Amino acid sequence: MYDDSVRRRARRLRTAGGTVSEVAQALHVSRSTIRSWETRPSTAPPHRCPRCDGRALDASGYSALLGYYLGDGCLSRAARYSTLRISCDTVYPGVIDDVSRCVASVRQGPVHLVPAPGCTVVQAGWKHWPCLFPQHGPGRKHERPIVLEPWQREIVEQHPAEFLRGLFHSDGSRVRNWARRPVAGELKRYDYPRWQFSNTSADIRDLCGWALNLVDVAWRASSTKHVSVSRRAAVARLDEVIGPKA
Ligand SMILES: [Zn+2]
Repeated sequence: MYDDSVRRRARRLRTAGGTVSEVAQALHVSRSTIRSWETRPSTAPPHRCPRCDGRALDASGYSALLGYYLGDGCLSRAARYSTLRISCDTVYPGVIDDVSRCVASVRQGPVHLVPAPGCTVVQAGWKHWPCLFPQHGPGRKHERPIVLEPWQREIVEQHPAEFLRGLFHSDGSRVRNWARRPVAGELKRYDYPRWQFSNTSADIRDLCGWALNLVDVAWRASSTKHVSVSRRAAVARLDEVIGPKA
């Protein structure tokens, strides 16, 4: 058995682009073991479920994970267990770490990182995922209603910053706009940072707006797919609430 620190190092090296052979050689672990850490469904004993068994839930980790799930996540059900997958852009290793931590704290079990073209999929199998994400269903999220249950709303109301971090660090981006304004007869260039959340589901955009209201961040629906935060004070407040996407 290898301890968790070896698995974590393997995960970091793979995320950084190391091949299975390179990582195996660097850590003195067989290639098949490295592969099994990435693809094998959990063999850990089933853990109790916060919804079915009343086990304590890390509410702040859950609130963030709910945001990530609504942004870039999906849940697939099989006969005996379900798999939660959150696709993360490889250029944001901090986000991959954050998602992994949230999944681990909510699941209290192993988390796997699976490399895919242009992204890393953070995934974990568990038969209780549908209890925690009752929004799962056939088809794409924007083709079905996404409504939070009262217990989920309560958690987000207590941890809106974490929920927003999950939403904006998956489907959001901080972009720089610019404009020219005349100052003393000369045109001067001004840069304006702006946060934008993009999602095709109107329900998920509404949830984003609701959470922004909870933390007093001014926003507007800037098009049919975007929620935009562009006032200077609001951008500064959101920066403080969710931290950099890195
Ligand atoms: Zn359950």
